[in-house]
Formats: sequence, structure tokens, C-alpha cells
Amino acid sequence: MKKVLIANRGEIALRIHRACQEMGIRTVAVHSTADASAMHVRLADESVCIGPPPAKESYLNKAAILSAAHITGADAIHPGYGFLAENADFAEMVEAHGLIFIGPKPEHIRTMGDKIAAKETMRRLGVPLVPGSPGPVASVDEAFAIAQEIGFPVLIKAAAGGGGRGMKVARAEEQLEEAYRTARAEAKAAFGDDTVYIEKYLDRPRHIELQILADAHGHVVHFGERDCSLQRRHQKLVEEAGSPALDPAERDALGATVTAALRQLGYRSAGTLEFLWQDGQFAFIEMNTRLQVEHPVTEMVCGIDLVREQIRIAAGEELGYSQEDIVFQGHAIECRITAEDPVTFAPCPGKVTTYHAPGGLGVRVDSALYSGYTVPPHYDSLVAKLIVHASTRAQAIARMQRCLREMVVDGISTTIPLHQRIMADPEFQAGDYTIHWLERFVARSS
Ligand code: ADP
Repeated sequence: MKKVLIANRGEIALRIHRACQEMGIRTVAVHSTADASAMHVRLADESVCIGPPPAKESYLNKAAILSAAHITGADAIHPGYGFLAENADFAEMVEAHGLIFIGPKPEHIRTMGDKIAAKETMRRLGVPLVPGSPGPVASVDEAFAIAQEIGFPVLIKAAAGGGGRGMKVARAEEQLEEAYRTARAEAKAAFGDDTVYIEKYLDRPRHIELQILADAHGHVVHFGERDCSLQRRHQKLVEEAGSPALDPAERDALGATVTAALRQLGYRSAGTLEFLWQDGQFAFIEMNTRLQVEHPVTEMVCGIDLVREQIRIAAGEELGYSQEDIVFQGHAIECRITAEDPVTFAPCPGKVTTYHAPGGLGVRVDSALYSGYTVPPHYDSLVAKLIVHASTRAQAIARMQRCLREMVVDGISTTIPLHQRIMADPEFQAGDYTIHWLERFVARSS
């Protein structure tokens, strides 16, 4: 592989560019007219403008991206996360054009993109699931029958779901019909597909996910868990590796189940299996067939470059190491810093007058910000990922607090003050939280 086109923007485009540079691979950036002066465009070896600001006409424009790959003579395309990363049709088109898609096989992207099919596949492979409907729920009557069987509260979820959309809780019978209808309408509006299914709504789980890598030669390894329980509206804000709640034996047992399942599936590339964990039990909710926003915390504790590994796997190389070679060292935490008001969460795009990134031992900042940069209003509000690594969780929290004080993003509002409050909270410091903790914390402190 000599040249990779990066079909993304922002911090993740930079992240992929960095891995390519260190491997001696040239990079092609693509960008919308709103991103002409973005850092990923400045740093790449070449760049191509692929359309106007709306993502539909640029970062989601498959034909424009493929043309850019041809014009520049790229051998491969890395989709990053979001945009086309989990679009099986795009992966197929890339391969049909004789290019390498740096990601899983299209068939696996397609299966896991349908959460009902994903659950059925994992059930067959012996992975424990959250109890729920065995397939789509096509009517209110069927919803009642399933809810009766598994017991309230229940969660109606979109089969095509993502980003926490198309998900509605019904705590009791009288809420079911409305939850069912709104979930379907929301799913239709967000994904153009109103297929929904039902799950038992767990009252105090943690979100624990497992990072895996699989090569094209049947080797599968895992890189331990991430605890992503700190969420607002089902969206992650803070992630840790490892989980403050899990012991190594539980991690190993889950790792063995998951790697065996993916070996049987014939999976390839990086992937993450997401679980809810309650009362010592794991229950699978979905699989992401891509690099995740929170991948750096795993990289920090395992000392591995996951993007480099994705590229090596796509080039047909073998992993070259086994599960025993993967050791976990210390603790890592990531804070997602967004251009949003830290109390109301209203988006705050605009010009960053001064930017200063924290530094020092065990500190990593993945960001495309620079002084004078204007955050455009058209895309996701994530502007920086602040990641720290230390030998213990307590030291990692202290380091994160120091970094949050050091970081300067003037000119726009960011969620830095919210992260400062979270890091200072005694319950967070004790590791005593579930997926519902942050919503209550936000309500309490605003
Ligand atoms: P999405 O793909 O939209 O992110 P997920 O299925 O990954 O949807 O769920 C997102 C979050 O919603 C989970 O991390 C968890 O916090 C919450 N959630 C999902 N399923 C359940 C459930 N059955 N019970 C309780 N919370 C759930």
C-alpha cells in the first residue's frame, strides 16, 4: 500500500494520516468547501475538494470520493468512523473499483448494521444477549405480547439504529403504544427504515465493550475492555480502559467467548462488541464494524496502534502475535470535548481565537484544532479528545484534572468545565456509576 485516501475529516482524519506517515504511506485528504483550511487538508500529501458543506453532498458522496481516489492514484480508502464507515454498499463499491477498503468484509458490515441480524448472529455463535424480541416487532399487539413476556420496563430500538436515535423506553403498559409509535417514526426519519425490536430495559447496567482485531488468516485477539457508561442521551462522553468494575478473570472469560465467535464468523479488521453488564452478567447489544472514537484509551493501555494494525490487516499481513503477548498496563481515560455549551449543550461553532493543548507525561490530545480555526456548523461538535494514561486510575484522574486546567480553547464554548466537574465528583472517583449516572449528574449540577 503506497497511498491511502482518508474519507473523513477532523481529528480522525488526522489520526489516520499520522499512522500512514509513520508507515511511509502517502495520504490523500478529501474535504468539503467548508473545510478548505482544515488541518487534515493542510497535513495530507494531497487533497481533493469533493463538494459543498452538507455531508450528503461531500463526505457521504460515494462517487465523488471514488473519483478522488482514481484521480490521485490511491490504492486504499480508510473511512474513519461515522460518514461511510459502516456503509456496506460503499465498501463493495471500493472493492469493485479495484481498491482496498480498510475495514471488514462488506457482508459483515451489512449484518452488524442490522441490529436484529447482529443479535441473531451472536446468539448462534454463543454470545449472551439482552433478553428481547427474537426479530422485528411489526405491530402494537406484538409489542404488548413481547413486553408481557419479558416484563416492563422495555426499550423499543431501531434495527438500523445509531447515535442513540430511534430508542424509546416504556416503563409500564400505558406507555408502550406511544413509545412504539415514536420509536418507529424517529427511526423512519433518521434511517429511512422503521423496523424496530424490543429489549428488556436494564435499570443499572454499565456499558462495557471489547476491542478486537482479526486478520485475514483466522487469527483473532482482543485488547480488553473499555467502560463507556458515562453517557448523555445514549452518547458517550467519557471512556476508560479498563473498567473500574471488572476484574481480569471476567475480562478473560468475555474475551475468550468473543474471539471464538469472531473466528467462527471469519471476521476481519478491527471491531468492537458492545455489552451491558449488570449483576456480573454480560449481555450483547451491538457490534461496531469500525474504529471507534474511544479507541485511544485501549491504545494507551496496550501500547498498540490500532490504525496501523487495520492497515496491515487490509494489506493481507498476519497479526504476528497472540493473545498472551497483549499486556495491559495502567489506566487510561478519555474526555470527549465538544463545541457545546457545558450546561445547555447548545452547539457553539465559531472561531477559535487561541488554542493551547496540554502536554507532559502520559498525555495525548487527538484534535484538529489550531488558533484561528473556525469550527464549521455543519458537522459533529467533537473538537478534541483529551486522553491520559497513568499507572493507577487515581493518578489518571489527577492527570486529567491537571490537563483540563491547562487546556485553552478561547472564542467558543466547550464542555471542558463539565469534564472538570465530572473528574472532581466523589462517585466518579470511586468508579461507582452506571449508564444512568451522567444524566442525573447533569440535572443536579445545572
Ligand atoms: P446506538 O447504536 O444508537 O448507540 P446502542 O444499542 O449501542 O445504540 O445503545 C446505546 C446506549 O443505550 C447503550 O450504551 C446504553 O447506555 C443504552 N441502552 C441500549 N440498550 C439498552 C437496554 N436494553 N437497557 C438499558 N439501556 C440500554
